[in-house]
Amino acid sequence: MGEVGSPELQAAVDAGLPAGQTPTLDLPFQAREALFQDLYDPSRDIAPELVRHLHTVATLPVLVNGEVAGIFNMVLFGQRPWSPADRAVLETTARSLGLALEGTRSVAQLAQRTRELERSNAELEQFAYIASHDLQAPIRAVTSFAGVIDRKYGSALDDRGRLYLRQIMESGEHMKRLVDDLLAFSRLHTEQRALLPTDSGAVLGAVASRLEAQVPGAEIVREELPVVRADAQQLDQLLQNLISNGLKYQREGVAPRVHVSAQRDGELWKFAVQDNGIGIEPQYFERIFVIFQRLHGREEYEGTGIGLAVCQKIVERHGGRLWLESTPGQDTTFFFTLLGE
Ligand code: ADP
Repeated sequence: MGEVGSPELQAAVDAGLPAGQTPTLDLPFQAREALFQDLYDPSRDIAPELVRHLHTVATLPVLVNGEVAGIFNMVLFGQRPWSPADRAVLETTARSLGLALEGTRSVAQLAQRTRELERSNAELEQFAYIASHDLQAPIRAVTSFAGVIDRKYGSALDDRGRLYLRQIMESGEHMKRLVDDLLAFSRLHTEQRALLPTDSGAVLGAVASRLEAQVPGAEIVREELPVVRADAQQLDQLLQNLISNGLKYQREGVAPRVHVSAQRDGELWKFAVQDNGIGIEPQYFERIFVIFQRLHGREEYEGTGIGLAVCQKIVERHGGRLWLESTPGQDTTFFFTLLGE
């Protein structure tokens, strides 16, 4: 309530209702019911001078989440009884006011929570970016000096020495991959480009030739792919992560083969990246998208557990969905949707 026109009443309102001084304002608070006064008696008011010209008054509690949050006050200058229709309208108004306030409060709380989440997300991303960026130089130093020791003094070391050195180099390489992947993850937010018409077939072509050169014996079968609305660099990263996983999680003695296709689905294109690998048990379908979650040790399959979390973020940013189907021991297919042009 703002200015109420009487110092006594203002002080009571400022102190918070119920003021304990006037039944008109206090009763609806205490009884949680409307008080309709057909013949109002100003002399019992907290500021009789101010209200002496009022003759008919209704005060109704406004309930917000079951608590009386305030009073809805209606006054008439002439004297007449409140009709049942008046009462119904006033009660509905007070109830609607309460509901509207409830809505505003929960919207405000939601907005507040969203702001807090956004802030902590931004802080985390900033931390991930700084940590991964600043870690690059020391890791490079460790791996390159280990390389120098290997080249210059390798022959002077015994077997155990060479084993230790190899472990330093391998750990350094893994650390470098972790840092590179973390940087890629944090850059998804810090470096956003516009979504433009992008030839997904051309992007796949570049990814496939890179991976086929890296993984001996790998086969990447490509069907004709559409033009979609995308950030070409992120689409490259998405396909790279999914296809390289398909080639990596292979069964012993089976030549790695990944098949990439797309099907129109209304305004969307549904992409499928299918491999012929070890498969994934359905109980892990959610866990694998969580950052750092892996189903295998590094001795079995090298990795950082960041790839699918990156994929998830990329697809979400494009307004699409990412999911999978799998037959353990046989194959896995990752699906994602993108908006067509
Ligand atoms: P990384 O491959 O670096 O471990 P990802 O986030 O890309 O991290 O994948 C998370 C986990 O999901 C992997 O450790 C692996 O256990 C499982 N996974 C991902 N792709 C496949 C696939 N195509 N076939 C079988 N398992 C997979």
